[in-house]
Amino acid sequence: MSNFVKPKPHAVLIPAPFQGHINALFKLGKLLHLRGFHITFVNTEYNHKRLLESRDPNSLDGFNDFNFETIPDGLTPMEGNGDVTQDIYPLVQSIMTNFLQPFDELLTRLHQSANDGLIDAVEEHALPILFFSPCNASTFLCTFQYPNLIQKGLVPLKDESYLTNGYLDNKVGGRIPGLHNFRLKDLPDFTRITDPNDLMIKFITEVAVRCHRASSIVINTSYELESDVMNALYSMFPSIYTIGPFASFLNQSPQNHLASLNSNLWKEDTKCLEWLESKEPRSVVYVNFGSITVMSREKLLEFAWGLANSKNPFLWIIRPDLVIGGSVVLSSDFFKEVSDRGLIASWCPQDKVLNHPSIGGFLTHCGWNSTTESICAGVPMLCWPFFGDQPTNCRFICYEWEIGLEIDTNVKRDDVEKLVNELMVGENGKTMKQKVLEFKKKAEENTRSGGFSYMNLDKVIKEVMLKQF
Ligand code: UDP
Repeated sequence: MSNFVKPKPHAVLIPAPFQGHINALFKLGKLLHLRGFHITFVNTEYNHKRLLESRDPNSLDGFNDFNFETIPDGLTPMEGNGDVTQDIYPLVQSIMTNFLQPFDELLTRLHQSANDGLIDAVEEHALPILFFSPCNASTFLCTFQYPNLIQKGLVPLKDESYLTNGYLDNKVGGRIPGLHNFRLKDLPDFTRITDPNDLMIKFITEVAVRCHRASSIVINTSYELESDVMNALYSMFPSIYTIGPFASFLNQSPQNHLASLNSNLWKEDTKCLEWLESKEPRSVVYVNFGSITVMSREKLLEFAWGLANSKNPFLWIIRPDLVIGGSVVLSSDFFKEVSDRGLIASWCPQDKVLNHPSIGGFLTHCGWNSTTESICAGVPMLCWPFFGDQPTNCRFICYEWEIGLEIDTNVKRDDVEKLVNELMVGENGKTMKQKVLEFKKKAEENTRSGGFSYMNLDKVIKEVMLKQF
């Protein structure tokens, strides 16, 4: 009998250095690890430092075959303006110009240390590439439409009225297969530019070209959530797979030995979980605008008084940098008013919060991770999209899936009060709750053994392994 032990396949995962992208790819890393992969997760040096500082640094060690590596982000501290994860433009610029060389050097180093058989690539760096979209399938699809939209004269926008009135139907000649009754304002906001040489557009267009070179493309979504869009994408790519929602995959294996490992760059306040214990089932509104959204003091006050006046208990996560140009300005009157029912914290373990039985609704900026995490927890949403893919996600949440209500960009306290009550205690809220529970159930079916996403993950792994040798 031979003593040969087949080496574990080794996946090197490198996210764009933003919290949402990191979290999504980190979850994919956990799923691949559960399927027997050795994982190397690559963060920028800056983000890895934050990861270490936000927890007991030892808590990242001791996970067999789940390792971290770092590369520099190429930004000097001055360019980074304090917290570099929040400064998108210099970071995107840096990805385009500075990431390749250190990543190449890292791969060389990993190859050299592969004498234990971690990677057995035939040629140096001749590795199969798996392209992961941290956004939903619709946003991914829109990425390829940008040149068309320019050609048809829809983008750059002629004027602001196109955002409210412009439909992408045949009238304006810009219909995108798979997207129905879409308004220009529902498209990812990279279309809302006036300068065709905008850096973001350059970046997205490059991504669109490069992803054709990947062996396979995977998206953290499910076929049920975006079937028409996926059908359009199947006709464009031979190997594209829905392998989500990740939150549902991981909720179903809570005891796995990586459960305590997460990739949050902010220190989590876990006291809010104790506070939730004191609240009635489904009574609390959870408010969180993710890692990048910012707002004016005026808007923050509209949200604050809308929540206070609604009289519902709420847990509100206010990042230290949420308010543009300054710290949070809530008055003592506000705190007096909500002392018995409001809790404010600066960052929380969102997955755990959303799955707590006291949570009844989620006021969200509609980041794709937050959207899928909410669906997987069976929590209906109030939507205040800020930028990027969030308007597209909001469109799906509120009008395609009907599991959320939209708050106007120009938020007013009376609307917040009314919509919070509609979500938490109104008839509409009850209907949305039923619908989101159905989506939750489908997500569970999809991600359990034999489910569509589960089998897709198997297929992708097989495909990648075949291309490795
Ligand atoms: N998150 C968290 N705690 C917080 C705020 C956010 O754990 O207090 C996590 C959240 O669960 C999600 C990610 O951070 O996985 C945010 O990603 P999303 O796509 O929702 O929004 P983004 O931050 O990219 O705008």
